[in-house]
Amino acid sequence: MKYQNNLSFARLQDKKDPLKKFRAKFLFPKHKGKDVIYFTGNSLGLQPRSTSKYIQQELNDWAKYGVEGHFHAKHPWFSYHEIFSKSVSKIVGAKPSEVVMMNQLTSNLHFLFVSFYRPTKERYKILCEAKAFPSDQYVLESQVKFHGYHPDDDIIEISPREGEHNIRHEDILSTIEKNKNELALVFIGGVNYYSGQVFDMKSITDAAHNAGAMVGFDLAHAAGNIKLNLHDWNVDFAAWCTYKYLNSGPGSIGGAFIHERHHTTDLPRFAGWWGHDKSSRFKMEKGFKPIPSAEAWALSNVPIISMACHKAAVDIFDEAGMNALTTKSEKLTGYLEFIIQEINSQNKNYKLEIITPNERGCQLSIIAHGLGKSFHEKLIQHGVIADWREPNVIRMAPAPLYNSFEDVYRFGEIVTMALRMK
Ligand SMILES: *Cc1c(COP(=O)(O)O)cnc(C)c1O
Repeated sequence: MKYQNNLSFARLQDKKDPLKKFRAKFLFPKHKGKDVIYFTGNSLGLQPRSTSKYIQQELNDWAKYGVEGHFHAKHPWFSYHEIFSKSVSKIVGAKPSEVVMMNQLTSNLHFLFVSFYRPTKERYKILCEAKAFPSDQYVLESQVKFHGYHPDDDIIEISPREGEHNIRHEDILSTIEKNKNELALVFIGGVNYYSGQVFDMKSITDAAHNAGAMVGFDLAHAAGNIKLNLHDWNVDFAAWCTYKYLNSGPGSIGGAFIHERHHTTDLPRFAGWWGHDKSSRFKMEKGFKPIPSAEAWALSNVPIISMACHKAAVDIFDEAGMNALTTKSEKLTGYLEFIIQEINSQNKNYKLEIITPNERGCQLSIIAHGLGKSFHEKLIQHGVIADWREPNVIRMAPAPLYNSFEDVYRFGEIVTMALRMK
């Protein structure tokens, strides 16, 4: 696509955008009475206008029915999580029986590790990306210690090569190969939260399986952002949160994927009554009978208010569809890349270096060379919400559901002005 750095071009793209009506479905924070330029949907997605109605429905049913709401609410609470299996399976590329909404991301990782990190004397190592999201690092460290192994030796981190910002795919494959006799698990963030790099999950899965290891992905930055095909890729397990690209509200419900080939095996798992056979759940008898699906990993009856927030968001995803979203996302982020290059070509003193590779979703991470936090503060003062990471990285994620080409153009104007004020 041939881009232009002017407002009429941006507006024309918005006019032609098949997803343009979705922007109005979201509530934007305001700056001086106008919508902010919100580029932090990778951190907390915006609130759909419909969310309060979905929550109100549950509050009404709770008031009207009390405990009977488990069966008589408009969306009975007993089975509320089942509503998601179809829509969410489309978002992550799974069969409906392979996904379940439960708990939150970090807790789900621990529960999934109970089943999928089964170290033995021969195989005990975990391979992951260096500088994984801190919570994931703590999961790995504590799991390895829990099983009596040693994080420093038994967690293998793959880093970018000297002077590079991204991890080379060939280095992941060769490290798997090198450790193939001791490897128990490969566990990587499908999209790196910092650089925005998307990993080739299919060939990582193949390589790990050939080495005899299990494979799991943290999809916090992938779910709702890029196309996923977890079932066909043969991934063993995955987990994600729903408050980033999936717009389901701060700390909302988590999601998990467990490949169907594991549903009826005797993998160990920590069990709870929401994973137990539905027909005998309320007999309250001894003896856990797992549901033969991802639901077997569920423990508790579900937090209905979070679920209602998630339903409001997922209904919007159903309407938009991941294909249309990723098509727009490529154009929109491509436009942001173009605008940043334009700014660089007009500036000799400062350089905004894009460190995100071409394998990416909607996020671009830049190093603002020669610029400090005051630069980021100027952006905030002019109504841009982007994410600053010390020492000088800015992460921007134009979300195709609600961001526009005009947002990107205006962002460029504000950056240009902020650089002039330096
Ligand atoms: C956002 C994020 C988390 C957050 O974990 P919670 O349990 O939801 O607080 C964990 N891991 C990654 C990779 C993330 O991006």
